[in-house]
Amino acid sequence: MENAIQGSHFPGRYWHRLDDDRIQCDVCPRLCKLRDGQHGLCFVRARAGDEMVLTTYGRSSGFCIDPIEKKPLNHFLPGTPILSFGTAGCNLTCSFCQNWDISKAREFDRLNDAAAPDTIATAALQLGCRSVAFTYNDPVIFLEYAVDVAKACHARGLKTVAVTAGYIMPEARTEFFSHMDAANVDLKAFTEAFYHTRCGGHLEPVKDTLVYLRHQTKVWFEITTLLIPGANDADAELDDLSRWVAEALGPEVPLHFSAFHPDWKMTDRPATPPATLTRARDIAMGNGLRHVYTGNVHDPAGGGTYCHGCGALLIGRDWYELSTWNLTPEGRCRACATPLAGRFEARPGHWGRKRQPVRLTR
Ligand code: SF4
Repeated sequence: MENAIQGSHFPGRYWHRLDDDRIQCDVCPRLCKLRDGQHGLCFVRARAGDEMVLTTYGRSSGFCIDPIEKKPLNHFLPGTPILSFGTAGCNLTCSFCQNWDISKAREFDRLNDAAAPDTIATAALQLGCRSVAFTYNDPVIFLEYAVDVAKACHARGLKTVAVTAGYIMPEARTEFFSHMDAANVDLKAFTEAFYHTRCGGHLEPVKDTLVYLRHQTKVWFEITTLLIPGANDADAELDDLSRWVAEALGPEVPLHFSAFHPDWKMTDRPATPPATLTRARDIAMGNGLRHVYTGNVHDPAGGGTYCHGCGALLIGRDWYELSTWNLTPEGRCRACATPLAGRFEARPGHWGRKRQPVRLTR
């Protein structure tokens, strides 16, 4: 049957045929099993005839130049502008989604901007960006498109950044991250119960991705945990999470605790008090993590990067704007020469905190 799957029918990778004539998508641990004409849970991958297709190839929900600190990445090309875009759909079902208008989108009308990989990379270069971010919704579900954009970026000397929940199968993960220079990975909580009941997923695959990134790739990555009052902000859970990060990934991996605001299907609780973020930061630093940040709140102390050798403030931030720069051109502390983990250029960028929506034309 020629079916009614809307959107592009770009050939999808990572799937196989089952004995009962269904085909299984092997991109993420959901392993959706589909009959002709059915969409996967992410909505953007679907079965058309006898193959899996990506329906959002070359389509975007919009482009914006952001400060790279907004991804958030604090140790990757600080102060530089990054051309950011997403598509539609998601492979998790988080009830607290802070980007639900994009991630839950089921209408292709929302994908207003048509953009071929070369168009995006050329625009990023012309707009003065140093990198391109796959963000707003999880790029693992539009892997083929993200990889082609990444190739076009690398051909022009641009870096690539994935903002992801890390919910991806090992084979697809290898391809996906081989095209990324940096990533911010959401670690949504540190209990299986939270992942299962609030995200419709599992914790272990996310931990596997983090361990993979740390030990088998050169991708620079930082972790973000959105703290939700009464859901994932208990001292014991924060202790478990940060202890695991320190032991499994090492003390240099930056960890961002960011503030929740009531949204989507979780409107029954207040926004995260700043004191919760500070408490989480204290616990994580007590477990040996060197770079722990507070996010989505105005907290210059919790937004600063400090030297673990002498304690000096290396990079000061006021919201997403750099206020202090005490690194040598080689990325070392000016006071004691201790190197700072991350990817730095001789000088910081000067993009500031502004966000600039852009419209790409062919
Ligand atoms: S990527 Fe989409 S279709 Fe594939 S398994 Fe995950 S949710 Fe299902």
